[in-house]
Amino acid sequence: MSELTFGVLTKIIATLGPASSDVDSIIKLIHEGARVFRINFSHGRFEDFERLLKTIRQASERAACSVGVLGDLSGPKIRLARLKRTDLVLSVGDQVEFVAAVEHMDEDGSPLRLASTYAHLLEDVLPGHRLLIDDGAVRLLAVDAYGHGDQRRLRCQVIQGGPISSSKGLNLPDSQLDRVSSITDWDWQCAAWAIEHELDYLALSFVRRADDLEQLRRFAVERGRDGAMRLPLIAKIEKPQALDDLDGILKACDVVMVARGDLGVEMDLAEVPVIQKRIIARAHDLGRPAIVATQMLQSMIEHAHPTRAEVSDVANAIFDGADVVMLSGETAVGRYGPQAVRMMAHIARTTQAHLAGPMSQSWTKRPFIEEGRYRTAALARGVATIVSDLDPRLVVIWSQSGKGALYFSKNRLHVPIVAATSDLMVLRRMNILFGVQPVLMDQPRDVAEFLRNLDILLVERGWAALKDPVLTITGEPIGTPGVSNAIRVHYVGDEIH
Ligand code: PGA
Ligand code: MN
Repeated sequence: MSELTFGVLTKIIATLGPASSDVDSIIKLIHEGARVFRINFSHGRFEDFERLLKTIRQASERAACSVGVLGDLSGPKIRLARLKRTDLVLSVGDQVEFVAAVEHMDEDGSPLRLASTYAHLLEDVLPGHRLLIDDGAVRLLAVDAYGHGDQRRLRCQVIQGGPISSSKGLNLPDSQLDRVSSITDWDWQCAAWAIEHELDYLALSFVRRADDLEQLRRFAVERGRDGAMRLPLIAKIEKPQALDDLDGILKACDVVMVARGDLGVEMDLAEVPVIQKRIIARAHDLGRPAIVATQMLQSMIEHAHPTRAEVSDVANAIFDGADVVMLSGETAVGRYGPQAVRMMAHIARTTQAHLAGPMSQSWTKRPFIEEGRYRTAALARGVATIVSDLDPRLVVIWSQSGKGALYFSKNRLHVPIVAATSDLMVLRRMNILFGVQPVLMDQPRDVAEFLRNLDILLVERGWAALKDPVLTITGEPIGTPGVSNAIRVHYVGDEIH
């Protein structure tokens, strides 16, 4: 299956949901090029996640293609409380009141009374602050606060009307939310579940400072996810505060996500494209893969074809230097999930042909490698030059821990990097790395045996033909991390001794 999309360097994450939670649907998404699946902990319960995870593993097995699974922690996302009525529509000029507790809600009264999941809303939201419901589709302005205790009310005016319903997201971009804890009880439960079930990456929403990730890191380390088992953490940048400590956050995470959905609500939407470029560039400097997320092919939720603007957006994210592009509603609830993945893979394949040319600046910029004396990192820089001079069919590395694969990936080779490991967890995790095609192999005795096994695999899967030049980077004893020291131009099928 993976043969079909071999050579698409940009990685694709597909969010799973009601439209994609059975084996056949997930196989279709894999078939079209999705390599990482996102389980959103904001929706569902543990039995649902458990079932979904099993289904992903089954689909991966049946498609004979490894995939990574990303657990996405909701973080301090504030929502409207549950509403009894399902037909509520707010109109411009209406007045509504927020109350502290659900018991004081009255959806039939006038003015309409609403509550949220945030206990301190009435203390933190002050007159003049905005309250944005459902990704900003409905907008309120706080105009007056009065009363005490149970009787306290925040009166708001509707600035932009529309339907509202239970548990819709509520963004409070003007309010200082110091009392919101960055990782909620539910997040901790989900994090424990994710670790126990060996998920491949854990994302945290609404990261505000490096410490949010450091807390999560300590939690994972306490549960044995350290060293070779270290759990990759993804920082979702969707709060303006996060930009004040971008470097700190990037250093504390393994992968960063430009979470444009909430970012575009919390900030001036027109700033988002610039912020996207800034986050990606800085992530690249620090050797962190970057994901661009949300509304990339939004219209494909309903339509078989994307808009021109959406196609441009995906291509431009790749030109910005994104390693990964993500689909959300398109695959979770959309009618055309597999088509959306296919379209993304197609755009990626078309765009990547131009990445090494004058149209892309991100391409030639070498990442700054913190561990400057790490030999594999230095080799990866050299290999990038050799690849652009020799133009081999592909590059092959043995990456037992996946760390070498990361350095090769961040050096932006314009050919696929076939990365072999004998470790199943590493295999799955390498699926998020730009350009990397992970393969599982029993550990060979020596380099000669590795290349013999490799040649069979390359030809069998159609990734290379006999006599094709491939660049191999190996070290001995093969499989030991950090020993890579030999770069070889190998012609597929040639015996080495
Ligand atoms: P979400 O995150 O889909 O979990 O909200 C992505 C975003 O906000 O862009
Ligand atoms: Mn979000």
